[in-house]
This record gives sequence, structure tokens and C-alpha cells, in this order.
Amino acid sequence: MGRIQGSGSLREANTRLVVEQLRHSGPTTRPALARSTGLAKQTVSTIVARLMTDGIAREAGIQPAERSGGRPAVLVEYAADRAYVAGLEIGVGRTRIMLADLLGNAVVVQEVHPEGRSARRPAEKLVAGLVGELERLLAERGGLERLHAVGVSVTGLVHPASGSCVLAPNLGWRDVPVAGLVSAAIGSDAQVPVIVRGAAQASLIAEHREGAAVGEPDVVLVFEDEGVGAAVVEADHLVEGVDGTAGELGHCAWPGAERRCGCGRRGCVETLTSGPAVRREIEARTGRRLPRRPGTPTYALLAEQADEPAVAEAVRDAGRVLGTAVSWVTAITAPRLVVLSGSLIAAPDQLRAGIVASLRQRALHGGPARVVPGALGADAALRGVVLLALDRARESTAR
Ligand SMILES: [Zn+2]
Repeated sequence: MGRIQGSGSLREANTRLVVEQLRHSGPTTRPALARSTGLAKQTVSTIVARLMTDGIAREAGIQPAERSGGRPAVLVEYAADRAYVAGLEIGVGRTRIMLADLLGNAVVVQEVHPEGRSARRPAEKLVAGLVGELERLLAERGGLERLHAVGVSVTGLVHPASGSCVLAPNLGWRDVPVAGLVSAAIGSDAQVPVIVRGAAQASLIAEHREGAAVGEPDVVLVFEDEGVGAAVVEADHLVEGVDGTAGELGHCAWPGAERRCGCGRRGCVETLTSGPAVRREIEARTGRRLPRRPGTPTYALLAEQADEPAVAEAVRDAGRVLGTAVSWVTAITAPRLVVLSGSLIAAPDQLRAGIVASLRQRALHGGPARVVPGALGADAALRGVVLLALDRARESTAR
């Protein structure tokens, strides 16, 4: 026999049921809530009254009599904009903020241009600029006390438990306490939880929950933001490894490669497959300097030149190398789906063709995994940390 619930926990369970229903239904009536939750009308009325007192629910107009089939009924809705969560994206060429309400609806997505070039700025300055902009966005929406959690995506090797970035060669960062810097910039009084993730993992979290990988229990995501990373979902769980740093495919060794990598070693996969690596290769082969545009990913720039045979060929070669590296991961995890994310989405078509060719060549049985671009585009990493912040906000309030 199950444990008998006390009246307090029963009330709590019923309240959760009503809140859950309110979150999903949109504006609804008390009788409709009673029907959908199976609770007594009086119970629903009592719970809704308390939720309204607490600011969690509010009235949202009147449902006309013809639709309710009787008397006009008062609509109630979940007050999603009573608080917010924020996502901060610290990419190599781009820093952005996404502010979302408690239903996860994006309220603002804003690019932030702190002083100087995006890459290789001191971390303190960059974080201060982002948090300053976040405070400005929140000032119009009830202030900092409305902020319930912050998620930060960093293009680099992140240690989620400590909230620090261990290494981000393309940002010029080593052992940067990102969560600490964000908390300090927000101010110690606020005590807003801060969650930090590597951009590849953050992107896969978003693609798996609401993008290209919905309903796929086993997925490999390949990410590029002037460097290369990967992330794996296995049996619907993100593979994190012992310290949360799983997925550093870009820094695996490619046999015979010699070029020095941003991580300090030589011959990493990234030195052959990142946008800047491919550009360097094309420039070496043609003796011509390709255009650079701050804030635009190198792969996106290469896509503009993809009609040139030298560009197409070098991109395809990089795709073949990357595809072989991805085959190391797919051999272990046997996913049905490989998602290309970050700047790989904007890359010339030859990149995906190269990846697919390598995977097909290395597949032993059952055929290679399907290779698709991420459905959330370049927003995946930012969206992923918003979803993590939302999880944390709900954990702490249960509402
Ligand atoms: Zn490396």
C-alpha cells in the first residue's frame, strides 16, 4: 500500500496539477480546469483564488456565453510574465541575450556589442557589458528582482558544476569563473542562480527538446563556432562525462596533422575542420586572401564564395575529415540522427556532403545516421541555456 498523503501534500499536489494545466492550456475557465484535472469545482476555485493572491494566476477577460454554453465565464491564465529567465550567449563572434517569461516564450532577443572586438576581450569586461544590458532590459519589466535564473552558453570547454570555463582558445579564455563573474555583476543581494554550459551541449539540449531531434532518443550534434565541438544524447540523456566536459571532438588528434591548435597541442581535428582552418587552407592553395567580416562566422563567409572550385573543394575535404571524426562518435553511440549546429548550418553545402560521404563510407550495417541541420539555427545554444534556466527557476519555485 502507498503512503497516505497528509492534507498539506495533497493540497500541494492538486495545486501543481492546476498550475501545470494552466501553463499548457492558455486562458481557461474554472469549470474547464475542474474537468481537465478531475478535481472538484470547489477545490479548483480555492486553488485558483490562492494562485491569484500569490500572483501566479490572474483573470484574463470573460468567455462569452455562447462558447461556454451557459453563463459567461471568467477566464484565468498563468501569469507567465511575473518573472523572467535570461540566456546569455558568449560566442566567438557574437554575444547575445534572450529574455524569456516563465512559459519559456522569448520576450527579447538582443545582440550586445561590448567595446572592442568580440573575441579575446577580457572576461570581466564582457560579462559586465552583458549584465548591464540585461539590467536595462529588466528595468522596463519590473527590475532585477523579477529575474529568477540565468543560463550562460560559452563557446569552449565548460565545467558545469563550478560554472567555470576551463578553456576557450577562440575566446582567449582559460579558467574563467563565468558563473561567479555573472553573479558578481548582478549583485550579491539578488542571489540569482547562474547555470553555465558549453555551446555544443546547450545547442543539443534545445534541439532535443524543441528542435530537429525531438523524439530521437539517441543523437549526436556537431557544433562549430570558429572551433569544433560535439554533444551526445543517449537514451534521452545528455552525456556529460565525469565532470560535464564530454564532447570535445574538435581536440581529438587527427593522424598525421601537425598544425598547432588553440588548445596548445598539435594536429587536433579542429585545425582541419573549423571555418578559420578551411579559410587558411584555401588561402594557402590559391595564394589569395579571402574576406573577413567581424561578427560573421567564417563558414557563412565561405558560403558566399562556394561557387569557386577551390572553396568548394577545400570545404568538401574538411567535411570528409569532420565526417570521419563524427564516425568515431557514431560508432560508439549508434544514433539515428546527426544534427549540424552553430555555424555549420550556414556553411557551404559541400561541408554536409563531405560529412555524409564519410559517414556512409564508414557505416558497417543498418546504414549511416541521417545528417540534418539544426531546426533552431544559430539560436540553439542561446535557447538551450534559457531552457536550463527555466528548469532551475521552476525547481526553486515549483510554480
Ligand atoms: Zn586542440
